[in-house]
Amino acid sequence: MPPPRPNLAIIGAGITGTTLSIALTARSIPHTVYEQSPSATELGAGLGFGPNAARAMKIIDPALWETFMRVSTRRDLPRLGGDPEKEAMWIEFLDGTLSSSSTDARAAFGVVAGFGEGHGAVHRAKWLEVLMGMVPEGVVRFGKRLEGIVDGERGGVVLTFEDGITAEADAVVGCDGVKSKVREIMVGGRESEGARCGYSGKYAYRCMIPMDKAVEEIGRERAGVSSLWMGHGRHVLTFPVGKPGPDQLLNLVAFVTDSNESWPSKDARSLALPATREDALQDFEQGGFGKSWALFDLADAPLKSFYSGRILVIGDAAHASTPHHGSGAGFCMEDVAVLSSLLEDPNKPDTARDLEAVFAAFDGNRRERDQWLVESSRRAADLYEWRLPNTGKENFEGMKKDIEDRQAICWGIDLDKAIREAKADLRQRTSQATKM
Ligand SMILES: Cc1cc2nc3c(=O)[nH]c(=O)nc-3n(C[C@H](O)[C@H](O)[C@H](O)COP(=O)(O)OP(=O)(O)OC[C@H]3O[C@@H](n4cnc5c(N)ncnc54)[C@H](O)[C@@H]3O)c2cc1C
Repeated sequence: MPPPRPNLAIIGAGITGTTLSIALTARSIPHTVYEQSPSATELGAGLGFGPNAARAMKIIDPALWETFMRVSTRRDLPRLGGDPEKEAMWIEFLDGTLSSSSTDARAAFGVVAGFGEGHGAVHRAKWLEVLMGMVPEGVVRFGKRLEGIVDGERGGVVLTFEDGITAEADAVVGCDGVKSKVREIMVGGRESEGARCGYSGKYAYRCMIPMDKAVEEIGRERAGVSSLWMGHGRHVLTFPVGKPGPDQLLNLVAFVTDSNESWPSKDARSLALPATREDALQDFEQGGFGKSWALFDLADAPLKSFYSGRILVIGDAAHASTPHHGSGAGFCMEDVAVLSSLLEDPNKPDTARDLEAVFAAFDGNRRERDQWLVESSRRAADLYEWRLPNTGKENFEGMKKDIEDRQAICWGIDLDKAIREAKADLRQRTSQATKM
C-alpha cells in the first residue's frame, strides 16, 4: 500500500493559494482552499513576472507555463514599431525631473531581463480567473474567513471559520497575504513579534489606462515599453498589459514617499484609501499628502521561522514586500515550486507524519532569500527616488549597475538546484526522525 497522502488546508485563494492548489492537483495531493471573499478577488492592475517566476511555473505545472505564455504581454518582443535590439528590456529608467515632453523623453539607462525566459506581464484579475479555471471544481470554498487554528486529536489541525464551521486537516498552509491570520496565530497572537506588517513609509496611486489613450499622451514608443520615471521622493512606473489590440492597457503606478510615519486608514481590513486625480497631481507637483494604496511589508518584523508545528506560511503571508523589484509574486511562485516538490518527494516513508520535516526543509530553503527581497525592495525604492548616497543625475551608471546586480539575484536563481538541496535536507531530517 502506498503511504497515505497528507490532506492540506490552504488559507487564501489569491495568486499564491490558487497556484499552490494547481501544483498540488498536478501531484495528486488532497487539499482544500478556504477563501474569505465570496468569489475570486484581484485588482484590475498589472503584474509582471521575471525569469525566476517563469522557471517556477514550469516546475509547478507545465500547463501553467503554457497558459502564461498564451495570455501574457512578453517584454522580449520587439517594442511596438521599434528597435528589435530592445528585445528583453525589463525597464527603461528616465529622469523624471526633466521638463521634456514624455513623447520624446530619452531613457537615462535600461535594465535588460536576461536569464533566458525574459519577462511577461498579466492583468491581475484576469490572471486569477485563468488560475481559478485550472483548479478542480469544489476545491475552493468561498466565504470562509479563518478565525482560529488548534491542534487536532489525531495529530493534525482543526480550523475554525467566522461562520462557525470547523474543518480538519493534517496541516495548514497560510497563503492569506499581507494581513495573514495564519501568521498571527502561528507567532502566538496579534501582539507577538512578526504578527503584523508595518507601513513602509510609501504609498502608491494605481490605474489602468486604455492603450490608445496612453499612446495619445506619451506616444507609441514610450507606451509600448516599461518605463520608470525617477525623481526626488517620487517615482512612476508604467508598463503595457495584454496583447496588442483594443483590450490592451497601460498599467500605471505612481509611488510617493510619505512624510507621515503611519498610514491613516481606520479600517483594519483595508490598505487602500479613496484617491482622486487631484490628490495624485498635488503629490507630484507639490509633494503634499494624498490618498491611495499603502505599501506594508515585514521588513521591520521578519519572521524567525515560516512554520510552527503543522502551520506554515508562504507567499505574502510569510514575506510581504514592497513591489520595487517587481518580484513579490514571482517569489510566491518560487515558494509554491519548492513546497510542492518537497511534498511529492517519493523518498519520504509517511507523508502525513513527515509534514513538519517538509515545512522545516522549506523554511531552511526559502526564508533567507524571501527576506532578502523584503529588505532589498525597500532599498530599491530609495534608489529610484535618489534618497541614497551616490544616487541621482550624476551617477546613472552606478545606479544601473546596482539595479542590475539586485535584479540578477531575483532572476538568476537555479531553482532546480535549490529544490535538489531542499529534498536532500528533507531526506536527512526524515531519516534522522526514523532512527529516533
Ligand atoms: C503596487 C504593487 C505592485 C506589485 N507589482 C508586482 C509585480 O509586478 N510583480 C510581482 O511579482 N509582484 C508584484 N507585487 C506583489 C504581489 O502583488 C504579491 O506578492 C502577491 O499578490 C501576493 O499574493 P498572495 O496570494 O500571497 O497574497 P494576496 O494576493 O494578498 O492573497 C491573499 C488571499 O487570502 C485571503 N485571505 C486573507 N485573510 C483570510 C482569512 N482570514 N481567511 C480566508 N482567506 C483570507 C484574501 O482574501 C486573498 O484572497 C506588487 C504589489 C503591489 C502592492
